[in-house]
Amino acid sequence: VVKILGIVGTTLEALSIATNVPSRNMGKKDIVKISNRELSKEEVDRIALISPRATINIIRNFKVCEKQGVEIPTLIVGSVQCPNPGCITRTNEPIKSRFAVLPEGKGLRCLYCDSVITKDLTSYII
Ligand SMILES: [Zn+2]
Repeated sequence: VVKILGIVGTTLEALSIATNVPSRNMGKKDIVKISNRELSKEEVDRIALISPRATINIIRNFKVCEKQGVEIPTLIVGSVQCPNPGCITRTNEPIKSRFAVLPEGKGLRCLYCDSVITKDLTSYII
């Protein structure tokens, strides 16, 4: 998630990460807390892909004021690289990658060359 949000050591957000926190619904969960950051729809869609059970809480004045689940999108444009080196989206043509999301988010299919990604999704996210 941190990689998806483009957070690297040089950015200014304050970041805390907690792992294996006890959870009533899931047994345990991981938490990523970022200050001064609202997420774009595109970022939320990417998080949904790798973490379909994620919840996004918006905290203002130390209180949770908004809580939203994520929805797996049906189409991913421009944020995933096709695994096929011969794919038109990997040439110098100004074409954004387009992937259809397989049922239940079980993978992605390139709409140009039909290559399918079913694991290690994070390593293809641009
Ligand atoms: Zn492709």
